[in-house]
Amino acid sequence: MAKIIIVGGGVAGLSAGIYALMAGHEAVIYEKHTKTGGNLTGWQRGSYHIDNCIHWLTGTNDRTETYKMWRTLGVLEGGIYRPGSLYTCELDGVRLSLCRGIENLEAALINVSPADIKPIRGFIGAVRAAAVLCGLEDGGKGCVLKLIKYYKMTAGELAAEFSHPLIRMFLSSFLTEDFGSLGLIFVFACFCYGNADLPRGGSQKAAERMTEKFLSLGGQLYTGVGASKLLFRKNIAERVRLTNGKEDDADFFILTADPDPSYKRLTGRKLPSALYKMKKNGRLRRFSSVHCAFSCPLPLDFESDFIFEMTADAQKSLGTKYLALRQFSHESSYAPEGETVLQSFFFCREPRCRQMIALSENKAEYKKTKENIARTVQNQIITRFPSLSGKLKLLDVWTPATYKKFTGAGCGTYMSYAFSSRYLPRLCGNRADGLKNVILATQWQQAPGGLPTAANAGRAAAETADRLSKRR
Ligand SMILES: Cc1cc2nc3c(=O)[nH]c(=O)nc-3n(C[C@H](O)[C@H](O)[C@H](O)COP(=O)(O)OP(=O)(O)OC[C@H]3O[C@@H](n4cnc5c(N)ncnc54)[C@H](O)[C@@H]3O)c2cc1C
Repeated sequence: MAKIIIVGGGVAGLSAGIYALMAGHEAVIYEKHTKTGGNLTGWQRGSYHIDNCIHWLTGTNDRTETYKMWRTLGVLEGGIYRPGSLYTCELDGVRLSLCRGIENLEAALINVSPADIKPIRGFIGAVRAAAVLCGLEDGGKGCVLKLIKYYKMTAGELAAEFSHPLIRMFLSSFLTEDFGSLGLIFVFACFCYGNADLPRGGSQKAAERMTEKFLSLGGQLYTGVGASKLLFRKNIAERVRLTNGKEDDADFFILTADPDPSYKRLTGRKLPSALYKMKKNGRLRRFSSVHCAFSCPLPLDFESDFIFEMTADAQKSLGTKYLALRQFSHESSYAPEGETVLQSFFFCREPRCRQMIALSENKAEYKKTKENIARTVQNQIITRFPSLSGKLKLLDVWTPATYKKFTGAGCGTYMSYAFSSRYLPRLCGNRADGLKNVILATQWQQAPGGLPTAANAGRAAAETADRLSKRR
């Protein structure tokens, strides 16, 4: 049996801990925040719960290996909520939703624009091919061939194949137009085939279930205690120095925090070469988003996410064309009866994230900026849904600076890199260059990150520690 110290109690860290315990090892997690979950989280504002993570959890279809992993980790213990649509776009009063069932999606697209039948058929064929590759649909030869064309396109280029403006918006606004269209196609495949749903209870509950699983297997958890440095003898890490001044020793150390800002600080070494190459790859970019949450009366006439084009002045003020809304009426515990939490978000790229983080150093300016954002967003919601006028109450505003503060992620990101066209997301190895017993488990090992990537990275790190300990 080996003792394994895990730095970070997000999804990757909890997964590493659970799999390490299941393999018979001792696992200790140090998490710098006061609670576990990392980006898989939610928080209370009075009697309202703000769920700030899962829009879709890949791996809710029991045909997949990822489903088995979520079951092992306890995430699906409360059941699965399967919404009828993942998102809806609206343009000039017409709506189009990513609905369940590939035939339904095809019919919805043709209904909006019969003239686009040719690109629709090609796109639907690609979604089907992606579903086969994910193990969600049987058979079908030539799947990879069907996807090559889309591998070469961004979502914006894919959208440009269609003549109808609503379909163009539908394809380019969800993951943003620079995202590789392959990424979009796989999300569509997962949703249409019942593999991208929500764990009941939401993000915070999912994190709590993983934590309970870790503790029930005998894991040791210290929250509010960060790791500040690993102490080495030659290329073997012997101990970790903690932010409470104490030290702890172990046979293996698994690092799960965003490596860009943390790896050098913790190990005194340069970023492992595979991660460095990803950092320098021009097809990968960092992003984050800005969010507002409001209390809101029910009913609302849309499900899940709703994307619409803002007025020209709001586009200029927020620096983005579309606003995405999200409502949570499927979780009755999030708000008092007859109400829900209505969230808004828009993406921002690395320079804007850094700007926001720099701004947050000046408390008064940062507060003013957040107030302006909330005002603009609220006005846009009311412009689109006039019946909500006077009925929304601002609950919170959070930005890339918030993510940086709570998880330590460089430039306030919460996923790893968004990938562009002509990029195939590959998993990079988890061994730290030259360090014998330091193992990586982070979503940054594979673009675009996300919960399955983090949990898989945690599992792989535990397996690596297990293999190395047996070899020793
Ligand atoms: C708004 C939002 C929406 C999202 N939507 C989805 C979605 O729909 N589907 C999906 O799959 N994913 C989604 N994600 C992404 C998902 O949450 C992340 O990919 C995942 O949680 C990353 O997990 P992680 O463990 O790799 O990293 P993190 O969550 O960053 O965890 C790292 C942990 O390490 C801790 N830490 C950092 N430094 C130290 C230190 N020195 N010592 C000790 N602890 C330290 C941090 O506090 C943190 O808890 C979303 C995220 C957000 C914020």
